[in-house]
Amino acid sequence: MKPGAASVTKMLSFEQALSEVEARLAAASFVPATEVVPLSQVWGRILAEDVNADRDYPPFNRSTRDGFAVHSEDVRHANSALTLAGEVRAGEYFKAEVKAGHCVAIMTGAPLPAGTDAVVMMEHTRTQGSKVEIERPVSSFENVVRKGSEAQAGKHILPKGRRLRVGEIGLLASVGKGNVAVYVRPRVAIIPTGEEIVPIEHKPEWYQVRNSNSAMLAAAVARAGGIPWEIGIGPDQKEALRGLIQKSMEADLLLLSGGVSMGKYDFVEDVLGDLGAEFYFQSVAIRPGKPLVFGRVQRRFFFGLPGNPVSSFVTCNLFARPAIEALMGGKFERPSLLRARLAQSVRHKAGLTTFTPARIENRNAGPVVSLVGWQGSGDLVGVAEANGFLVVHPEQPGPEVGDWVDVMLMAS
Ligand code: AMP
Ligand code: MG
Repeated sequence: MKPGAASVTKMLSFEQALSEVEARLAAASFVPATEVVPLSQVWGRILAEDVNADRDYPPFNRSTRDGFAVHSEDVRHANSALTLAGEVRAGEYFKAEVKAGHCVAIMTGAPLPAGTDAVVMMEHTRTQGSKVEIERPVSSFENVVRKGSEAQAGKHILPKGRRLRVGEIGLLASVGKGNVAVYVRPRVAIIPTGEEIVPIEHKPEWYQVRNSNSAMLAAAVARAGGIPWEIGIGPDQKEALRGLIQKSMEADLLLLSGGVSMGKYDFVEDVLGDLGAEFYFQSVAIRPGKPLVFGRVQRRFFFGLPGNPVSSFVTCNLFARPAIEALMGGKFERPSLLRARLAQSVRHKAGLTTFTPARIENRNAGPVVSLVGWQGSGDLVGVAEANGFLVVHPEQPGPEVGDWVDVMLMAS
């Protein structure tokens, strides 16, 4: 940490830093406002109401096959002969009770007629006029989904706080929720900093670079469910930075990028400190992304992300994404790790959790991870080639070819 900045000097491990973010957000016990949104617009939002089954699911004993509804007692033995009493299609019901020795032709999705308790598949029958020969015995409720077996009326089927993905949307539709209460999306201010950074519409001088971080972070924020608010580029000057940070106070979360390293003109922490910020950590033992800063200023949480594009990308994904989800009423979800076999040996710097852009592919022998040609924290060309990261833990020795290693898939 730079001398002078308000301070927590200890470098946290990756796990400690994640726990710190999770605990600080939980302690703030922030409850977002809610709004009611049509089902067609809820994808990715967080459910703000508990949803119960409005009736039994399925609502009737449902046939899962085309065939004949029977009394299973009647077909205890192979080649029993039954009398055909009629037909029931999906979307209607059989009006009479089916007597012993009788059966009813039934289609997939139709309710079992009263008196029957099983379905024999069409393939295992032979029909001649009004006689149906059943070639195989069936047991009670074979080829039937019983009424209420998926959910009984009144059962709690979706909890408040659940992120609405494709499956949840299907379930909401099935219980008739055309409009759904969800939490409002948090507004996330994005403040890139750096004297050398120019808007992407400008032709940069040879010593300048385009502001790639804002567009990238805005996409990441939107994907997490937040509303990105791109604030103009902050120069490496305290007064101007202060103005931009103050302007961003209408947001629920601040994402600053750049200006958090040891350089003479890295003023972000100084300015936040002057504005009364509390710093919860100012560096994390990860690569890329070590100078990551997290704190709170005037009641808003902020992340000071390192300016290097890949460091910004990685730290946003690891820390800001779950924070945004928590701020919008969801669960703080730690990144999930999967396993793959390593295609090449890798050197590892002890003491750091490293996230190296990589490609994870399914080969014949299972998932394999290979590194992309990545030149370091600034290299978005390498990142664009990757679909995930090789994750090596602080105490782990440099992994060798063929080792099972941890990988993390990249959020698209
Ligand atoms: P800093 O964290 O300010 O020391 O910046 C580290 C590196 O990231 C420098 O090479 C910067 O030019 C670059 N950088 C910082 N901010 C951005 C940005 N918004 N877009 C692209 N590159 C950036
Ligand atoms: Mg800078």
